[in-house]
Amino acid sequence: MDNVVARLMRYAKVWSESDYHANRGTTPSTDRQFDMARLLVEELHGMGVDNAFMDDTCYVYASVPATPGCEHLPAIGLIAHMDTTPDMTGKDVKPQILHYEGGDLVLNPEQNIVMKGSDFPELQKFVGQDLVCSDGTTLLGADDKAGIAIILQAVEELLAENAPHGAIKLGFTPDEEIGLGASHFDVKGFGADFAYTLDGGDITDYEYETFNAAKSVVTVHGFSIHPGTSKDRMKNALLIAMEYNALLPALETPAHTEGYEGFFHLQEMHGKVEEAAMEYIIRDHSMERFRQRTAAMDAAAEQINRRYGPGTVTVDTQDQYYNMYEVLKDHMEIVELAEAAMKGAGIAEPTHSPIRGGTDGCMLTYQGLLCPNLPSAGHNAHGRFEFAPVESLKTGVRTVKQLLSPALIEAVILKKEK
Ligand SMILES: [Zn+2]
Repeated sequence: MDNVVARLMRYAKVWSESDYHANRGTTPSTDRQFDMARLLVEELHGMGVDNAFMDDTCYVYASVPATPGCEHLPAIGLIAHMDTTPDMTGKDVKPQILHYEGGDLVLNPEQNIVMKGSDFPELQKFVGQDLVCSDGTTLLGADDKAGIAIILQAVEELLAENAPHGAIKLGFTPDEEIGLGASHFDVKGFGADFAYTLDGGDITDYEYETFNAAKSVVTVHGFSIHPGTSKDRMKNALLIAMEYNALLPALETPAHTEGYEGFFHLQEMHGKVEEAAMEYIIRDHSMERFRQRTAAMDAAAEQINRRYGPGTVTVDTQDQYYNMYEVLKDHMEIVELAEAAMKGAGIAEPTHSPIRGGTDGCMLTYQGLLCPNLPSAGHNAHGRFEFAPVESLKTGVRTVKQLLSPALIEAVILKKEK
């Protein structure tokens, strides 16, 4: 029998980084993600899941039919992503298990790469435990290979134990880290009644709230004229752009907000006297405040246009995604099942926190597949200090097995449907 740690270390070694700038108009953004997809299909076949396959956009799908007598249970989907972020190299990952005794943790004595306890206070939770780490020269890729390892380990154990279960649907996606993980997902073919992504962090924390998100392009149309002869005639688009930004609340930016606080984020600006453009992203968990924010973008433009003439500033706002809670709030038993499973796995007090971003699950939720996010046991994602505690990985396996347990589903889901 395999184990979840060996799985994570095996998957971590496969270079499956996606690429923001591939621009090749196809999915996946990098061919190397197929290496991961092929490995998973092979392993699923080895476990006896013969229907596992990968499609030509590098999505891996598989399903395990319900055991006799469990056909009435809902088909539950489990989803994780195969790519790692382009933000830190994921090539030649050398995973290792280190015992953490508190204080600093030396990842790489030759290169003197040290994870400082003072920089990462959450390490204190894991004193006395074994941690899966990289050698400090790459990320680990626990995001989201820990999610994959937990899912496959749980399914392999259920099959080996001949445990009763409803239908299980498995989906592994490419290109999540570049925001495209859900874009080619075959929700209909997947056939789950609802699903969970395993792409969270600390094993005690689950998530079902995301931001509502929009992007606004603000264009300032100026009037350029020789600076020596421009009195009362020049309209400097660059200065007007700064005036525009000053009309937005200065303390509602990513650098000043946390938890459920939304923001305006100026992420790019460029221009000349004649024309300037600014790109903002707008985020808020509350739909009402989100709409107030997009309206504030237009109101600021109106104010500038009163000063400088109609059409000086135009704002083009496009919604990007919405808070999955807007849909999930009418189906909270799916969230309750997650929490009950975590408790059943030995987590005394599961917590949930609002995601300050989106997830594949939030896109899928709006495509009709309700999909909260479960923890995958990884910490410090997207960097060289990424790690996954061994105990947390094992807890993750127990959580998934609980999630699929007929008794729990009967109690939490089916009782409510009656
Ligand atoms: Zn992830």
